[in-house]
Amino acid sequence: MYRVTLIQGDGIGPEVTEAARSILDATGVDLKWEVVSAGETAWQECGDPLPGAVLDSIRETGVALKGPTTTPVGSGFRSVNVAIRQALDLYACIRPIRQLAGVCTRYEKVDLVIFRENTEDLYAGVEHLVGDGAAEAIKITTEKACRRIVRSAFEYAVRYGRRKVTAVHKANILKLTDGMFLRVARAVAAGYPEIEFEDLIVDNACMQLVQRPQEYDILVMNNLYGDIISDLGAGLVGGLGVVPGANIGDETAVFEPAHGSAPQIAGKGTANPVAMVLSGAMLLDYLGEKEAARMVLEAVEAVLGGGVLTPDLGGEATTREMTEAIIRGINRPPLK
Ligand code: NAD
Repeated sequence: MYRVTLIQGDGIGPEVTEAARSILDATGVDLKWEVVSAGETAWQECGDPLPGAVLDSIRETGVALKGPTTTPVGSGFRSVNVAIRQALDLYACIRPIRQLAGVCTRYEKVDLVIFRENTEDLYAGVEHLVGDGAAEAIKITTEKACRRIVRSAFEYAVRYGRRKVTAVHKANILKLTDGMFLRVARAVAAGYPEIEFEDLIVDNACMQLVQRPQEYDILVMNNLYGDIISDLGAGLVGGLGVVPGANIGDETAVFEPAHGSAPQIAGKGTANPVAMVLSGAMLLDYLGEKEAARMVLEAVEAVLGGGVLTPDLGGEATTREMTEAIIRGINRPPLK
């Protein structure tokens, strides 16, 4: 039995986490869910968007499945996501950007993995007013954080048989911060001669990814570029509804899709559950339940390939219809 913390989140969060929970349960892996509340929902319930019980639960279970949480724009409480990642030192954000059967896009054979540094950079939250009419935010970069995110990318490349790591940066302008990231990346790369290494300036990386995404494999970068390029990557493979994610530290891991709480479609029953479900498959893989993870992945691809698509993918299926179809796929006995 595995204890798993479940954060339902805001907006479409409860709908897609419920879908993921029922699909993971259908694999037969014995998961004991511990439901806690964070985000706008918790803010309204108890005046604290990240109650201590949330972090306590994740520290105890070691693993969480998290729905998206809303962050007020321009004012209000700070991001719960950033706070969780920093509090638990979940330094590696991993987002596989992969073409899925049945999802129509302008591209073919896109199969990238983004490694985003998750604890510092402009997300460190050091921001202040400088007199009237001026404000500054501080971009924090440490060798330790650069080294561990680049090393995670190379270790993943070795473990999953990937061929190339590309470091994305702006070291031509940000010579000290991104310059440090690039220097450390080159030093780490030297320890993995079997994996190809290259670097790209972030603006060029955006253009190259739109023109020739197939030429890239693993991309490693700091927090801000990783946030932006994740959504660019999602756009290559059918949108945010199909991109899962993991936030991994040395002790704990939180699995959540790249997408947000999508308030425009909350409560309509049309949210695409795939990103959340594939985040759940990554959780199963992390727990060592590789066979169950594979079953989920195959069932998702079979359902999409069979044309059961939510509106964001050009179809008319509801969240529930897609969830039920995936569960039927998991329960179907394998072909002899
Ligand atoms: P968003 O990801 O919520 O939505 C962007 C677009 O993608 C919208 O058109 C939305 O309808 C669509 N979309 C996203 N997920 C979908 C899904 N599963 N199925 C179908 N369509 C989907 O991004 P946003 O609008 O910039 O942010 C909304 C809120 O979410 C903000 O408060 C933001 O701070 C928060 N957010 C949270 C997380 C997180 O919790 N990890 C991540 C990103 C944004």
